[in-house]
Amino acid sequence: MTEKPLSTVAASGSPASGAGAAPAPGAPLLQVEDLEVVLSTGSVTGRVIDGVSFGVGAGRTTGLIGESGSGKTMSAMSIVRLLPDGAETSGRIVWRSQNLLDAPRRRIREVRGREIGVIFQDPLAALNPIQPIGKQVGEILRRGGMARQDVHARVLELLGRAGIPDPEQRVDVYPHELSGGLRQRVMIAMALAGEPQLIIADEPTTALDVTTQARILRLLADLRHQEGLAMLLVSHDLRVMAHVADEVVVMYAGRVAERGPAREVLERPRHPYTRALANNVPAVSTKTAIAEPLQGAPANPFDRPSGCAFHPRCPLAVERCRTEKPELREVEPGRFSACHRATEVAP
Ligand code: SF4
Repeated sequence: MTEKPLSTVAASGSPASGAGAAPAPGAPLLQVEDLEVVLSTGSVTGRVIDGVSFGVGAGRTTGLIGESGSGKTMSAMSIVRLLPDGAETSGRIVWRSQNLLDAPRRRIREVRGREIGVIFQDPLAALNPIQPIGKQVGEILRRGGMARQDVHARVLELLGRAGIPDPEQRVDVYPHELSGGLRQRVMIAMALAGEPQLIIADEPTTALDVTTQARILRLLADLRHQEGLAMLLVSHDLRVMAHVADEVVVMYAGRVAERGPAREVLERPRHPYTRALANNVPAVSTKTAIAEPLQGAPANPFDRPSGCAFHPRCPLAVERCRTEKPELREVEPGRFSACHRATEVAP
């Protein structure tokens, strides 16, 4: 790989954070290095994630963007080993100086939910339908060793922190009795229960109406500022990214197409795929004069086109793009693009 990590973690340096100690804002917290995921489904096997690298700094938000099937969710879920059966991973996922890909299952269970909280796209599917919400939040606290007599008060506090009004009235309700927005707030309370340093939020607002989306995003932003939380946000919605992310990683067909500071990448893309995504969203439209709507269907990561996987859809494609895979390389300080013609993309 010719790329440099977004933020680097010393292979054998001191932990990014000690047990319970908060690292300095922006300090490297998580580093994903050259991640590969090989997946077998029936008779088909493919490297669905191919050499993906990115980082998340303490108190910062990194966004993974891309169309459906681009590999953003799979990259994020690799971190906490929530992958489909049959998935094989390689590379490094460095968390507190430990490569989680080598860590035993017991350590992963410790990390997941306690050090790294996860918010799923569909809270109704993620929550237990036959257990009151308070019990579900309380279970995480009990598993973390909290004394039984302290759990109830802490559950109420967490539901309140997640913006659920009148927690005392709602602690015993079941998930189906709540609106989509409140269910997502329960997921946030559960993610906060372990006092994590990082939250992975997988399309946390996709199923919600626009007003509720805005409220949930504001809540996540407030939590990040108040509690110094770092966030890895997975979304196909560039408007969300433009408002929330510090850094973005644009993914296509299981590879990183472009990476860098969010505002710069979204306003001044260095990859035709990013430019096409941005041009499809008026609120995030680039400063380029040419509107090039995204044509064609996303590449199948089980059967990628040769060379640059984006070439069948790319208005800038030349012969070289069909045969030679572009490496992710630094095209200006802090900006990385996997495009042979990166310097011609920006105006
Ligand atoms: Fe387009 Fe070629 Fe760049 Fe791929 S490498 S994005 S096909 S110009």
